[in-house]
Amino acid sequence: MNIKDKSQIDLLKSKINNSQKLVIVPHNNPDGDALGSSLGLCNVLKNMNKTVSVIAPNEFPDFLNWMHGVEDIIIYDKHVKKATQLVKESDLVIFLDFNALSRIKNMQKLFEEDDTPRVMIDHHPFPEANTAELQISVPEASSTCELLFHILTEAGFKSFVSKEAAECIYTGIMTDTGSLNYNSSRPETYLIVADLLRMGIDKEHIHHMIFHNNSFDRMRLLGHALGEKMERILEFNAAFISLSQAELTRFNFKPGDTEGFVNQALWIEGVKLSAMFTEKSNLIKISFRSRGGFPANKFSELYFNGGGHFNAAGGESKLSLPDTILRFKTVLKEFCTTHKFEE
Ligand code: 5GP
Ligand code: MN
Repeated sequence: MNIKDKSQIDLLKSKINNSQKLVIVPHNNPDGDALGSSLGLCNVLKNMNKTVSVIAPNEFPDFLNWMHGVEDIIIYDKHVKKATQLVKESDLVIFLDFNALSRIKNMQKLFEEDDTPRVMIDHHPFPEANTAELQISVPEASSTCELLFHILTEAGFKSFVSKEAAECIYTGIMTDTGSLNYNSSRPETYLIVADLLRMGIDKEHIHHMIFHNNSFDRMRLLGHALGEKMERILEFNAAFISLSQAELTRFNFKPGDTEGFVNQALWIEGVKLSAMFTEKSNLIKISFRSRGGFPANKFSELYFNGGGHFNAAGGESKLSLPDTILRFKTVLKEFCTTHKFEE
């Protein structure tokens, strides 16, 4: 794995060795990689006898609610005072799985005013400068979890990776690669998975908890999304799904219920871009997935105040749901006719 400068690992090692109270922060709407890396590292640091808190900006989905240490996660939106105090009292803050302060939403302000030393470990391209004094950014890594395990190994901390920590790390690799489907063509990823298996993780159990433990409502919502709400834009090889708040309520929506829906439209023959529009209380959350040369992150950054990876990105819109879809159609046409990208 291409870590720009090996001295970054030495620096991280000395920062960890010299800190007793640490705070770990994943991105807003934490997914399997964000939470897996946070809890994986939290378990490792606890095994080193450190005092560690994971503070998530907002709630995480139920399908992650089994990982070791998950019950101690502090949700910033619910416990602003406690979270702020923990950050103020800490020696080191570690940001995981995001590349810009805006990705932690309501927590952003706290860190704009805080001077606790901080480190960022992440695999998103184009990290924002000065987010942390040490930024270990490796976009080629399949996941932050893979990168984290590599770093822990290089830093000589592998003996602190317990089975419980390994299970969290494995979770992030599986969820960010769609079970080793995409972003997973580097042999090193498999060597790391092999190492995690050797540590005794219960792979079947993890897959069951993440992928085969859906609520009845979520499966019915998926059926509705695919059967009633999926549209195609043949001219530009795109397909999209939209879900309003009323529809989400009808299917008793819980955070995480629409996770992965956006991937499904990409399974259609010829579709190169898939989009998903989900109506939240004050905005439309947008997810993009692409195949081949369509730069989902660039498209999202240009038109929907977002970003992410080349083939998996997200953004948002302040317009209504129908207006957001109209705008999507307009800007997709504009983008496809003004930008050249490989099929
Ligand atoms: P998802 O569609 O699963 O929410 O996100 C896909 C990818 O895009 C993830 O890597 C995520 O970090 C990134 N992403 C999602 N939403 C946003 C956003 O609003 N802004 C930026 N910059 N990236 C996002
Ligand atoms: Mn990730």
